[in-house]
Amino acid sequence: MKKENMLIIGSGPAGLTAAIYSARALLKPVVIAGIVPGGQLTQTSDIENYPGFVEPVGGFDLMTAFQKQSERFGTKVLYDNVVSVVFSGTGPHEVSLAGGEKIQALALIIATGASPIWLGLESEQRLMAKGVSACATCDGAFYRNLPVAVIGGGDTAMEEAIFLTRFASKVTVIHRRNQLRASKIMADRALQNPKIAFEWDSVVEEITGQNEVDGIVVRNLKSGEKKRIECKGYFAALGHKPNTEIFKGLLDMDDVGYILLKNQSSHTSVEGVFAAGDCADHVYRQAITAAGMGCKAAIDAERWLESKHKT
Ligand code: NDP
Repeated sequence: MKKENMLIIGSGPAGLTAAIYSARALLKPVVIAGIVPGGQLTQTSDIENYPGFVEPVGGFDLMTAFQKQSERFGTKVLYDNVVSVVFSGTGPHEVSLAGGEKIQALALIIATGASPIWLGLESEQRLMAKGVSACATCDGAFYRNLPVAVIGGGDTAMEEAIFLTRFASKVTVIHRRNQLRASKIMADRALQNPKIAFEWDSVVEEITGQNEVDGIVVRNLKSGEKKRIECKGYFAALGHKPNTEIFKGLLDMDDVGYILLKNQSSHTSVEGVFAAGDCADHVYRQAITAAGMGCKAAIDAERWLESKHKT
């Protein structure tokens, strides 16, 4: 079985920043690229708030640059998923990959991020990828001159709705309250966009269509009235849940599954196991904060290795 100094699970801003720092510390990190290589940013449109970029930068381009920078210092990236882990005392810890490989690591950094939340409707499953999506950047171009619906009232929903107006004939936002959760700047942009309509105080009861989406049935929570809205695309934008299932019962987590960190460090409840980014942060969840957490995890792991294993 291969034995590594440092294994990083996840290749979003947190994982790749940890890789840059630990590669520059000559720890030869191995990154398991994870559920979505490059993380959630590869599924977003232009990023305007990542410091250092005067003009907007594409999420995919930014993450490609992170990866190339990490590889320049000797990071190895494996395109595989972790299916299980075995933590043993102060390590080495063992990681099993979907491809069958097992790897031991003295230090492990978990940066598995978070995944989109769905409403949980049967019709969401049935029509998945047949008009049902959680990524406007990935699928928006399929809806040229067609009506679409976006579900949710947060920044993701506003960003997706605004992005979709590039293609769609009309974008209807369905929100369960009459006030948006989104930041004021994003909310104002969406509210002022003539192609975006809002269904307030409303929930989606069903997505209709035989082989592809042709509409949604929404219910107004105040009046109880139901109506059908014609749309060819259904975009869930309901927030995210942490990708931490494989660590359940092995690491201390909160009720929702976010990994708990010790004090203000990146140390988890298991020695030699560190966490960074959205899998351990339900508050900020920004690319820049995830990158900062990745940096902290690499430094914590490096110091821990130095004290315990003298690499
Ligand atoms: P949020 O949790 O902020 O918003 C989720 C939205 O979905 C809320 O409006 C919520 O309604 C609604 N919702 C959740 N569950 C259900 C349900 N079962 N039925 C109906 N509606 C539901 O998630 P986001 O992904 O929008 O944002 C997460 C974080 O990322 C935020 O901090 C945000 O600021 C940030 N972000 C920043 C961006 C940027 O700056 N460019 C872009 C995208 C995200 P309710 O409001 O009633 O709770």
